[in-house]
Amino acid sequence: MSEVHVVGGGLAGSEAAWQLAERGHGVVLHEMRPVRGTPAHKTDRLAELVCSNTFKSTEVSNAHGLLKAEMRLLGSIILQAADDARVAAGSALAVDRDVFAAGVTERILAHPRISVVREEATTIPSPGIIATGPLTSDALATTIRERLGIESLAFYDAIAPIVSRESVDDGVVFRASRYGKETMADADSEGAYLNCPFTRDEYEAFLDALIAADQYHGHEFDEVAYFEGCMPVEVMAQRGRETLRFGPMKPVGLRDPRTGRDAWAIAQLRQEDRGGRMWNLVGFQTRLRIPEQQRVFRMIPGLADAEFLRYGSIHRNSYINSPGALSPHLSLRDDPRALFAGQLTGVEGYTESTATGLLAGINLSRMIGGEQPVIPPPTTMLGALYRYMREADPRHFQPMNANFGLLDDLGERIRDKKAKREKLAERSLAAMEAWRVANVMVGATP
Ligand SMILES: Cc1cc2nc3c(=O)[nH]c(=O)nc-3n(C[C@H](O)[C@H](O)[C@H](O)COP(=O)(O)OP(=O)(O)OC[C@H]3O[C@@H](n4cnc5c(N)ncnc54)[C@H](O)[C@@H]3O)c2cc1C
Repeated sequence: MSEVHVVGGGLAGSEAAWQLAERGHGVVLHEMRPVRGTPAHKTDRLAELVCSNTFKSTEVSNAHGLLKAEMRLLGSIILQAADDARVAAGSALAVDRDVFAAGVTERILAHPRISVVREEATTIPSPGIIATGPLTSDALATTIRERLGIESLAFYDAIAPIVSRESVDDGVVFRASRYGKETMADADSEGAYLNCPFTRDEYEAFLDALIAADQYHGHEFDEVAYFEGCMPVEVMAQRGRETLRFGPMKPVGLRDPRTGRDAWAIAQLRQEDRGGRMWNLVGFQTRLRIPEQQRVFRMIPGLADAEFLRYGSIHRNSYINSPGALSPHLSLRDDPRALFAGQLTGVEGYTESTATGLLAGINLSRMIGGEQPVIPPPTTMLGALYRYMREADPRHFQPMNANFGLLDDLGERIRDKKAKREKLAERSLAAMEAWRVANVMVGATP
């Protein structure tokens, strides 16, 4: 069979290379470390985890747990290596990072059809997969940018939290667009945003909590000069007690229909997905630690019981605006056999990155064999992530992690959250298994 190239020996690239090799292809895996380093990796091992040592929950009633269960059906080598390197961490799949990376490296090096080349790639191979991650080297980032005809891969990624619609208190928030303006033809006639109105006392208390909250201090290289557009909300708050009221929390043009008055301050939620299940806290990009995000942002009127589907973060990140630039199976639009995978495609997190590597490997193998690429249905977590990267609004596209808001509704109302998620997971796993049987030659682990 022909030789294929995978660029980037991280989580996605290692998974993709393995999937291709297991399907009989000769694979050249290009990894630039240790010839050229990244600002976060410390070793020359494949699949090095740059930060936390957890792949998150193993429970299928958790979105990350469900995604992992789907990946196991498809035979993920990264999860097998993670299982072998597991350390006790409650219901989370946490690993000894050295044992884990060594385990992946050994498996890949021992595979008779994979050869690993230590060099910086600067071109886009076809047939091939680019999986160079959030710290893609500058030379390759330039090539990708020029090939896609885009101005930049986003470099500083300012992410605001997303909450589930059903957890927002409709007795407190009200719908409205600022000054009643709306440009989209079929938008909700009441206004596109959900507005959380603050009294003066609520605003002052919120500000105090925000300023005092514990922040995440990341890697040294991560200490960036923020663009005004992605300034963390807590940094804005520290600039002065009125700064937020003149920034993302300005109350003007948003009259609360219940009081007939402007509130002292307003936090706005903007719809994130077409189904209206996920709502983004506009302008609330943040470096607060996760428990602090839960504590402080639940002080926002209407969000006391907020369920966070994604937490805010700010870090260096190269990613492609996939809905605006790539095909549905995440290839160049004019070359379906030049695929992208991992965090570079706009998914966020270890598990999500690995999962896209897995599917890219399956699809490239199919196309080399003369078949069409396939994507699992959106009732699966993996299929729903791909749908997001296909259908999200390119003007606001931001990296996305696995979460239940991405999945199609069940079509029945189940009040108990855990029971509902278990039902969604049952449906997802049945759909993934049916999809695997129909489409995937090599797969399920015993
Ligand atoms: C500082 C930081 C902290 C993070 N913390 C977490 C966390 O705690 N939990 C979490 O789930 N996610 C975290 N992430 C996101 C995390 O990076 C991704 O989830 C995951 O590692 C991405 O997998 P990947 O395979 O896409 O990229 P990576 O795992 O980064 O792999 C990409 C590989 O490509 C190589 N490469 C780059 N350019 C080239 C080139 N031109 N030629 C050849 N090789 C190249 C790199 O050396 C690297 O080995 C973090 C990201 C960063 C930057």
